[in-house]
Amino acid sequence: MREIDAAKITDEVARLCMEANFDLGKDVEDAIRDSLKREESTVGKEILNQLLENARIAREERLPICQDTGLAVIFIEMGQEVHIKGGTLEEAVNEGVRRGYTEGYLRKSVLGDPLKRVNTGDNTPAVIHLRLVAGEDFRMWVAPKGGGSENMSKTTMLKPADGVEGVKNFVVESVRVASANPCPPTIVGVGIGGSFEQCALNAKKALLRKVGTRNPDPFYADLEEEILALVNETGVGPQGLGGRVTSLDVFIEAAPCHIASLPVAVNMNCHAARHKYVEL
Ligand code: SF4
Repeated sequence: MREIDAAKITDEVARLCMEANFDLGKDVEDAIRDSLKREESTVGKEILNQLLENARIAREERLPICQDTGLAVIFIEMGQEVHIKGGTLEEAVNEGVRRGYTEGYLRKSVLGDPLKRVNTGDNTPAVIHLRLVAGEDFRMWVAPKGGGSENMSKTTMLKPADGVEGVKNFVVESVRVASANPCPPTIVGVGIGGSFEQCALNAKKALLRKVGTRNPDPFYADLEEEILALVNETGVGPQGLGGRVTSLDVFIEAAPCHIASLPVAVNMNCHAARHKYVEL
């Protein structure tokens, strides 16, 4: 049995909340830079250049990439041979979020209740997705999620007969209708299969991948590229002001599902696509 201090988890969550908000992933930044070659709109090019400048300033001056510093979404894969000592995992994570958002002067965006709408004041509680795996590993992704892009999420239960065409239409239409709201260029996470709730979770989990990586299944890798080309034909463009670069990538996570079902979910990341990873 391996022991991990709760305090160590707290330290790492605090650090990663700040890093995610200050330091845009190199994959995203490179993809924005690369997209300049494809963008035909003058306004679109100007916006893409501003996004690069914004990311540079945020990194150098340790300022948030965006004023919406997000709801802290934490994915953890923990080996069943791991024991957390000195506190519970949930408390450790929430203390890390509390510290990261306070020490980093990050906006506190969490309400204790969706209808009474009083701010908790420290950006807790986090949304924690824990998966128990074999062994002694502890892997954690900290992925703050802004409200603008999260609000453009969609889930549907297609008929099995709708097939691949139905999936493509649903994803492309979701991006088209979202328009400027998720602050494009976006990264589009797509969950296909599973149950109603599992496909939504897979759509979000898909966003943890690095831009430019493909699904290991060639069928889904091709579908990712096909949908990416289609969403970039919608004309939404950078910040929704028209152009060729609506999305930087499309990631699909598929899961086994019921014979009567074809659940599909879309979850988008904005240009401030924030996620940081650590192994303890
Ligand atoms: S969608 Fe992203 S870039 Fe736009 S306001 Fe929200 S966090 Fe910021």
